[in-house]
Amino acid sequence: MGKTRDKTSFFDLKRDVVDRGLCTACGTCVGVCLFDAISIDYESDEPIPILTGECTECDMCYPACPGKNVPLRTLDKTFLGSERYFERDKIGIYTSCNRGYAMDEEIRLTSSSGGIVSSLLIFALEEKLIEGAILTGWRKDKPWRCKPYIATTKEEVMRGIRTGMMIVPNNALLAEAVTKKQMEKIAVVGLPCHIHGLRKLQMRGKPKKLVNAIQFCIGLFCASTYYWEGTKHLLQESGKIKNLEDIVAMDYRGGKPPGDMFVLTRDGKFRFVATKHDYVWHLLGSASYKRDRCLMCVDFSAELADISCGDVFQRIEDKPGPFVATVARTETGEGLLQMATEKGYIHLEHHDPDMIPSSGMGWEAKKHAGVYRWLERSRYGWPVPDYEYEISESPLPRDLKFPG
Ligand SMILES: Cc1cc2nc3c(=O)[nH]c(=O)nc-3n(C[C@H](O)[C@H](O)[C@H](O)COP(=O)(O)OP(=O)(O)OC[C@H]3O[C@@H](n4cnc5c(N)ncnc54)[C@H](O)[C@@H]3O)c2cc1C
Ligand code: SF4
Ligand code: SF4
Repeated sequence: MGKTRDKTSFFDLKRDVVDRGLCTACGTCVGVCLFDAISIDYESDEPIPILTGECTECDMCYPACPGKNVPLRTLDKTFLGSERYFERDKIGIYTSCNRGYAMDEEIRLTSSSGGIVSSLLIFALEEKLIEGAILTGWRKDKPWRCKPYIATTKEEVMRGIRTGMMIVPNNALLAEAVTKKQMEKIAVVGLPCHIHGLRKLQMRGKPKKLVNAIQFCIGLFCASTYYWEGTKHLLQESGKIKNLEDIVAMDYRGGKPPGDMFVLTRDGKFRFVATKHDYVWHLLGSASYKRDRCLMCVDFSAELADISCGDVFQRIEDKPGPFVATVARTETGEGLLQMATEKGYIHLEHHDPDMIPSSGMGWEAKKHAGVYRWLERSRYGWPVPDYEYEISESPLPRDLKFPG
C-alpha cells in the first residue's frame, strides 16, 4: 500500500483528468503552479499539460482544474449570488443583456464580431484598471497556430483579434503575469472552461497573489473548439496548402462578417480557404473535429464570467452590425460596461436574451446535445465531468426567436 496523502499533486491530475480525456487544455494547472513545474506541450497537435519540473505536491493544480469537476451550483452562488433554475436561466444568471460594438471603427471592423472584448481591455489598460490582459494570439514561429500572451497596450490587444478556433491555454500565463512580471492587476479573456478554472481558483482563495491580481474575466460564448487536425485538413484540402511552413498569416474571420477563412503565404498571395459557413457547418462542426472534451461541455455562454460576449448571428432590422451579444453577470462586469460606455469606448443597446439560444448552433450543442451525450456516456461508465447538478434528460426548448 502506498502512503496516504492529504495533498494532491500533478500525478493525481494526470491520472484523473489528462489520462481520462477530461482535460479541456485551459492551462489553469500551469498558471497556478508557483514552482514552474508544469508546462504546456505546444509541440503536440493538441496542447496538453506535462511535468517539466519537480512536483512538490503543493495541492494547487488539482483543486483548480475544471476538467473533471465544475461545481456549477456552488460557483453560481459564490460569484453570481443565486442558484440557477435550468428551465428559466437559459443563458445562466445575469444582470443585463445588451448588444454592442466598439466605437473605434478600426476595432469594430477588424474584430471577431464587433470588438467589445478588445475595447473593454483597451479601456481597462488605458484607465489603469489593469496592468496586463491575458489573451490569445498567433504564434510568431508558427503563424498558423495560437498561443496565449500578455497584452499591455492597445496595439498588443489588437494582435489578439480574429484568432483561434482551436483551444488555447490562456490560464497558463497567470503565474507568468503575476509572479514573473509582477503585475498586481490583470484581466483574463477565456472560453467557458477557462472561466471555470479561474472561478475555482478564486473560490479556493489560493494562490492568494494570483487571486488578488485578477480584476475581471471576460468569457466568450463557445459552441466548441476543434482539433487542430480539422484545421490542418481544411488548409490542405480546401486551401491546397501542402506545406504549412508556407503560411505567414492566418485569419479565421476575414472579409465581411461573419468572416471567412484566409491565409497569406510566403509568395505574398492571399488565399481563400473556406467560408465560415462551410468550415463551421460542413467540416469542423458536423464532421466531428470538435474536441472530445467539448462534446461533454454544457456551458455555452460563459455562465460564470463577469461579462460574456458572443456573436449576434441574426440580422438586426435596419442596423448594419456587426454586433456582439454582451451579457453582464456581476457588479464588476456592470461597472466596467458602464464606464467604458461613458468614456466612449463602446456602444451598447438592449438585446433580447431569448435571441441568444437561437443565434447559431452553440446553445443547442451544449444545452441539449451535450447534455444528452453526457447521459449516454455515463450510462456506459465512460469518464464525464461532474457539474454538481442532476443532468436532466428533457431538452430545454430553444424557442427560436428572431427580430423583426
Ligand atoms: C473557439 C471559439 C468559439 C466560439 N464560439 C462561439 C459560438 O458558438 N457562438 C457565439 O456567439 N460566439 C462564439 N465565440 C465568440 C465570438 O467568436 C467572439 O469572440 C465574441 O463575440 C467576441 O467578439 P469581439 O468582437 O468582442 O471580440 P474581439 O474584440 O475580436 O476579441 C476576441 C478575443 O478573444 C480572444 N480569443 C480568440 N480565440 C481564443 C481562444 N481560442 N481562446 C481564448 N480566447 C480567445 C482573443 O485573444 C481576443 O482577445 C467563439 C469564440 C471562440 C474563440
Ligand atoms: S487545469 Fe486545465 S489544462 Fe490542466 S489538467 Fe485541468 S483541464 Fe487540463
Ligand atoms: S466547448 Fe467547453 S470545454 Fe470545449 S473549449 Fe468550449 S468551453 Fe472549453
